[in-house]
Amino acid sequence: MTDLIQGANLRGVGIGRGMAVGPILRMPDPLPEPADDTSTIGGDAEKVRAAGALAATAADIRLRGQRAGGAAKDVLDAQAFMAEDPTLKDDVDARIDSGKTAERAVFEAFAAFRDLLTSMGGYMGERATDLNDVSQRVVAHLQGVSAPGVPDPDHSFILVARDLAPADTALLDLEKVLALVTSDGGPTSHTAILAREKSIVAVVGASNALTLTDGQIVIVDASTGIVTVAPNDDEQAAATDTIAARAAAAVAPVGPGALADGTKVPLLANLGSVDGALPAVEKGAEGVGLFRTEFLFLDADRAPTVAEQQEKYTRLLEAFSGKKVVVRALDAGADKPLSFLNDEPEENPALGLRGLRALRANEPILRDQLTALANAQAATDADLWVMAPMVSTVEETRYFTALARELGIKTAGVMIEVPAAALLADRILADTDFASIGTNDLTQYTLAADRLLGSVASFQDPWHPAVLRLVGEVGRAGQKLDKPVGICGEAAADPLLAVVLVGLGATTLSMSPAALADVRSELARFTLQQAQEFAEIALSANSAVEARLAVLAAAQTLTTPSTESE
Ligand code: PEP
Ligand code: MG
Repeated sequence: MTDLIQGANLRGVGIGRGMAVGPILRMPDPLPEPADDTSTIGGDAEKVRAAGALAATAADIRLRGQRAGGAAKDVLDAQAFMAEDPTLKDDVDARIDSGKTAERAVFEAFAAFRDLLTSMGGYMGERATDLNDVSQRVVAHLQGVSAPGVPDPDHSFILVARDLAPADTALLDLEKVLALVTSDGGPTSHTAILAREKSIVAVVGASNALTLTDGQIVIVDASTGIVTVAPNDDEQAAATDTIAARAAAAVAPVGPGALADGTKVPLLANLGSVDGALPAVEKGAEGVGLFRTEFLFLDADRAPTVAEQQEKYTRLLEAFSGKKVVVRALDAGADKPLSFLNDEPEENPALGLRGLRALRANEPILRDQLTALANAQAATDADLWVMAPMVSTVEETRYFTALARELGIKTAGVMIEVPAAALLADRILADTDFASIGTNDLTQYTLAADRLLGSVASFQDPWHPAVLRLVGEVGRAGQKLDKPVGICGEAAADPLLAVVLVGLGATTLSMSPAALADVRSELARFTLQQAQEFAEIALSANSAVEARLAVLAAAQTLTTPSTESE
């Protein structure tokens, strides 16, 4: 649960197993709307102030872009252009002429432009949030307060925020940001996924995080989810030792995933971009267990063509020559809307026309994607598997598998993310080649807890015996029918839970590459029989917390043939 423990310490949900020590800095709160007062210094002076603040903001943003480089530079250059836009400047001046202060005129002019872009929708609509950010920066400059957004001091720090926009997370300067602590967001929010992908030490959903003050020293331990506030010297020294030991383990030689008795458990990578392929191979990924294709097209305002997709998929498969690559068809909807697939607003998007349902309602888009994948398959020698997201019925399974085969996909399967699909896994697997369990959504739907909502983050715990019982259903069905059952939700990245999942019948585990080393070393500590015993222990618990503690206790009492300290 997200609460205070041991006096001032905080508890949230840890992402990965990393640890960091350092001073905290809080993400500034958004600025309040400037008052609609009449200017007391006169129009000309206000215009000079406004022009100065716009120019200084543009220069500041551009400088940040130069420092960040890469994709971040492009994003920030585009924001600098917004601050220099002559039409906006004219609008600001016109509002000042009507008696407004520079702050108010900037606020109103940017808001009007933002509303215009929002009404245009698509790509332009998505830029509206960037305008808010620029507007806040200009107003902050005028008011002489710190600009909202990720602070940029000249020392390293632990960032504390309510939550981070994906753009903020993507732009974090990892030389300086030692760790991330948020009060909102669950372990499967996309902030958490991005943090995992970039190996940022993170604790999310620590509900009291915003009580921390700038400069306080904390230890962030993602393996326990605990943030120790004002640690003593011994605690700091122990943390520093752990950080050094982890750094050494991370560069240790990598081999294939296997249990202590030699049972192979291929360890695969979850990827959202083609650029992620080589770093994943370097970390020992034995293939790809989940390629999130929707991440390639989040900005697109029209469906990608066959040729556009084929080029990307071919590059991906080339990076995994001779290896297995599981690509997921576009999983649009809820927290990952694609404008060309989800055009109708819905009350409950997580329960709406998402995943395979949205693809089926737009079958030409699904056909194009499968065709592009089949062409990429033919052009390379990777072992391509393609799966459908958010499948809930046997009939949907048959539909997708038949269509994929018709279009030339050799191995077609489905994701099990909905309890109904897990409960009927034996019938679903009879009609397709493989299943991959998405524990993030499976947990969300089993516990009826929105995976993006900090207030229910404690429910979003895949250790819950109800979730594990469903995983066990799928594992049993896979064994009975001799069909592979992978895990590609974030649960596979939790080393001890990974052992339990194998005990429940998972044949492969796929995770963010940053988690591979820890999971590999944990698997090597236990035999298949022990993994199965752990699974029984977890299944007989009453809660997620009980399950985790009981398996931890059992693991600690065991001496295994190849137990090695990390
Ligand atoms: C899942 O739901 O577990 C999954 C892997 O898919 P995503 O996180 O992209 O919804
Ligand atoms: Mg999912």
